[in-house]
Amino acid sequence: MKVIATPSRTKEILEKFDLTAKKNYGQNFLVEPGIVSKIASHAIMSDHCVAVEIGPGIGALTQMLAQKANKVIAYEIDERLPQVLAYSLEECTNVEVVLQDFMEVDLKELVSRYPDQDVVIAANLPYYITTPILFKIFESEADIKRITVMMQKEVADRFSAQVNTKDYNALSVITQYKTTVKQVVKVPRNVFNPKPNVDSAVLQFEFKEKDESIQEELFFEMIKACFKQRRKTILNNFGEWFGDKEKARGILQDVSIDEKRRAESCTLEEFICLYRRIEHDYICKSEN
Ligand code: SAM
Repeated sequence: MKVIATPSRTKEILEKFDLTAKKNYGQNFLVEPGIVSKIASHAIMSDHCVAVEIGPGIGALTQMLAQKANKVIAYEIDERLPQVLAYSLEECTNVEVVLQDFMEVDLKELVSRYPDQDVVIAANLPYYITTPILFKIFESEADIKRITVMMQKEVADRFSAQVNTKDYNALSVITQYKTTVKQVVKVPRNVFNPKPNVDSAVLQFEFKEKDESIQEELFFEMIKACFKQRRKTILNNFGEWFGDKEKARGILQDVSIDEKRRAESCTLEEFICLYRRIEHDYICKSEN
């Protein structure tokens, strides 16, 4: 089987189908087999895995996932590509290509089709839509066992940022509340065709057990409000959202958060404490 993820094979396939990469679909094809193989190895966690791929492109990662997984279901938005994939992945009989925007996929229904398999997600993500795709997965409540995805290095740094660093923001806190996240591969910009302007990184996310006592919508709204204006103190941001600055000051005191601190210095545990302190008041207030 010819490896797709090489500069020469990629060029050959692109020329055969007279294809040029579409910028608006975030198309940058991987042309380094060692990196693609690493992503596939990190993604496939057991010998009974179904891999869901977002954006197979011309099949570089799909091919390597197919060698390790029982089945690959690959969602591609570009209508030019299914015929290309039928050619490039001709020998991979366990691959199903679906011409569909991944944002429209019903993940719960998809996972329910494979009750005896570990369903995992793998992708070299289209960069224009990285965060919406990940939040769609995080919010789906589908039993996805692992997510292994490549994205721009800067965005990866924000997802995995630790407290008291410049990259730490609401996205980091919410992601780390929902999942355990780690960076598994660093990817230089020169392993793509066309070459992007930035380096990339592969992140792996595994879901934490859901805490049913937390109303996520309210919790996430509170976190986003605390980070609303980065240079403002937690009292100013939180107080503005809570709608009563004096009461907010008392609440921060109750949970031992100094009102002069900024959100970037607050840990996930501190945000959970703050949420638990306001939950009751807040829900009563919005019901009245
Ligand atoms: N997996 C291939 C690789 O690594 O060489 C291609 C990766 S390329 C960065 C992103 C792919 O996602 C492209 O094929 C693009 O057409 C596809 N794509 C973009 N938006 C999408 C969406 N909303 N749903 C499904 N596929 C999408």
